[in-house]
Amino acid sequence: MHLKNCMIRGDMESDSADEQYPTVSVCDECIEQDKQSGDESVIIQILNSDLPYETSCYFCGNDSD
Ligand SMILES: [Zn+2]
Repeated sequence: MHLKNCMIRGDMESDSADEQYPTVSVCDECIEQDKQSGDESVIIQILNSDLPYETSCYFCGNDSD
């Protein structure tokens, strides 16, 4: 299981950019699934950053190895 940091579509009602476009860790599987979901896609951008990683996938909760 490999996690990547991704910017996702969050709470658009929020006044905070951090909540509108939060950065979360997502596993490869969920990234693949999101790519195939077309208009329903919530991942805006995969970030190549040194941000600290969460220990589990935001969507499915799978732990990273
Ligand atoms: Zn996942």
